[in-house]
Amino acid sequence: MSRLSELAAIVGERHAVAGEELRARPQDFWNNMPTVALGLVKPGSVAEVSAVLAYCDRHAQPVIVEGGRTNLVHATRGTPETLLMSMERLNTIAPPDADGMTVEAEAGVILETLQNKVQQAGLRFGLDLGGRGSAMVGGLLSTNAGGFQAMRYGVARDQVLGLECVLANGTVLSHLVPYTKDNTGYDLRNLFIGAEGTLGVITKAVLRLHPLPRTVNTALLAFDSFVGVTAALRSMRENLQGTLSSFEIMWREFYDFNVEALCPASPPLPIGSPFYVLCEAEGFSEEADAERFEAVMASLLEEGYAADIVVAQSSRQRGELWRIREEFEPEVKFFQTMIDFDISLPISAMEQFARDAEALLARDIPENLGLHIIGHLGDGNLHVTTGLTSPERKPEVQRLIYGLIAQYRGSISAEHGIGLAKKNYLGHSRSAGEIAAMRAIKAALDPNGILNPGKIF
Ligand SMILES: Cc1cc2nc3c(=O)[nH]c(=O)nc-3n(C[C@H](O)[C@H](O)[C@H](O)COP(=O)(O)OP(=O)(O)OC[C@H]3O[C@@H](n4cnc5c(N)ncnc54)[C@H](O)[C@@H]3O)c2cc1C
Repeated sequence: MSRLSELAAIVGERHAVAGEELRARPQDFWNNMPTVALGLVKPGSVAEVSAVLAYCDRHAQPVIVEGGRTNLVHATRGTPETLLMSMERLNTIAPPDADGMTVEAEAGVILETLQNKVQQAGLRFGLDLGGRGSAMVGGLLSTNAGGFQAMRYGVARDQVLGLECVLANGTVLSHLVPYTKDNTGYDLRNLFIGAEGTLGVITKAVLRLHPLPRTVNTALLAFDSFVGVTAALRSMRENLQGTLSSFEIMWREFYDFNVEALCPASPPLPIGSPFYVLCEAEGFSEEADAERFEAVMASLLEEGYAADIVVAQSSRQRGELWRIREEFEPEVKFFQTMIDFDISLPISAMEQFARDAEALLARDIPENLGLHIIGHLGDGNLHVTTGLTSPERKPEVQRLIYGLIAQYRGSISAEHGIGLAKKNYLGHSRSAGEIAAMRAIKAALDPNGILNPGKIF
């Protein structure tokens, strides 16, 4: 009996895929290449996850767990010898607990499905990102995802109260507590969050919820200086009474590019200002929120912090503003060999960092196709993208920019993780001692190294 047939006996023939059927499936969200793997199994219960892992551990069979395959660091890519394990059949959501403000969801629940389900109960799940239609709870937690609302609700880690997880040897660790306070020894939960499937397989989580805001006010602002941007952030934090939920910065090159690509005849604000910010506030009072929002926007203009502002007057206009920030396809096409960086920096260092990055690229890689910078400014997180007409000098660009991030003592991965794409640069942000401690944890929990081998380090 082949290894895949033995695994199919655990999950059921219908839920084990190999050969042409597997090759026909795109590798991930970003890549249409055929999937390369020994096979793909889709367990339908935690017991089946446990049995698959126990089998793999006994046979030293490498396993990569898959969520929605939207990660940006090649974290679910394997070799012809790897087994893929999809969590898509573990997709149950329990009825939300409106008093405790929690919901229990399995790892294969898609983010958008969860958002809609809790919204029907008058509640909000505090994570949102562009991959919402595919990314799954297990993947979001395993990458400790961030996104558009982290400044209000925190990152994925902050949404988790309890966790169920299966270790490499099949042991089920179930600690599905629905409360915040739980000081009962080591915090195992936080080991698995952000571990990119290298320490265990998340099967279920108890997630924190928030009251569902009833109002949303959105504006696009143009700035002549970075000082104006940071003053606006401070003012909104102070004066919007805790309702500020997004503060997304776009450097001019990105804004101008996307406006030219998406709406050249009707830009919401003229192109050409050094910085733009898309901000959003969500609150609970129809009249007071809109009035307060308008007043804060007006004061930013009066005090000379913002050069120009447009406030969305309808949900259609709100959608158009967000599209300028979220649309990435024209950029992907334009940059040909796209080279992107997801970094954290102190806000006070960002403007100089951007200048240094531009100058370094102009000096050492003059054929670069430009530099686009956007980000979740309130979280200190920037997405920096450049491109080349061909891939030969991509490693040089990476060395240059990662080196600069290290000089600024920034993080080489703010929210996307390390995977394969950044593992050579982990030492730019973590010390040798820290990496040795990570390796020790990996060896203790996965002594045969079967879980997502070769990722992170
Ligand atoms: C258009 C778009 C916009 C995006 N914007 C953002 C953004 O703003 N912020 C952000 O943080 N990310 C963003 N992402 C990246 C991506 O959506 C996140 O990394 C997401 O958390 C990945 O979830 P996934 O289910 O697709 O996981 P996958 O890509 O399938 O897996 C990611 C990692 O988690 C592991 N894993 C998956 N499921 C489990 C499990 N059950 N147990 C253990 N390990 C598991 C995998 O092995 C892999 O290492 C974006 C992606 C897209 C496509």
